[in-house]
Amino acid sequence: MTPLERVRSRAAQLMAVHLGDGSWSFAFDHAKTRAGQCDFARHRITVSRHLAVRFSDDDVDQVLLHEIAHALAGSRAGHGPTWRRTAAAIGYTGSRLYDGPVASELAPWVGTCPAGHEHFRYRTPTRLLACAMCSRRFDARNVITWNRRPAEERRATA
Ligand SMILES: [Zn+2]
Ligand SMILES: [Zn+2]
Repeated sequence: MTPLERVRSRAAQLMAVHLGDGSWSFAFDHAKTRAGQCDFARHRITVSRHLAVRFSDDDVDQVLLHEIAHALAGSRAGHGPTWRRTAAAIGYTGSRLYDGPVASELAPWVGTCPAGHEHFRYRTPTRLLACAMCSRRFDARNVITWNRRPAEERRATA
């Protein structure tokens, strides 16, 4: 199975267990800054295909449980107490890693320009990059310095 097939089959399993009536469907989306989404209008849970391939199996489960809890708790619950109770009850262990702008939290490479703008990369930066926020054209004064984060730091703490 490819990573995406694994995510799809895991989604089918978890959704069958927790949203058993079959009224919800699953799909991949193209988001780069969030892991998953619960689309109440379409009754559809989606997971980012870009991030899904980088997640461990545990991470995939957590992303799915996070979104399934939204489906169960309803759109009005937000991330409030009802959603949190629902999420905990189905096995979500609760970390912001799986919600919101996760791309930056997961990227192993963090760079900063002299002005302090942060940049994120999944792959080792191989060529000299200058900060596009400082100047739209390459300017050697704005070269980004890269640091590789230790794996623990890429796990959310909240
Ligand atoms: Zn959420
Ligand atoms: Zn900058």
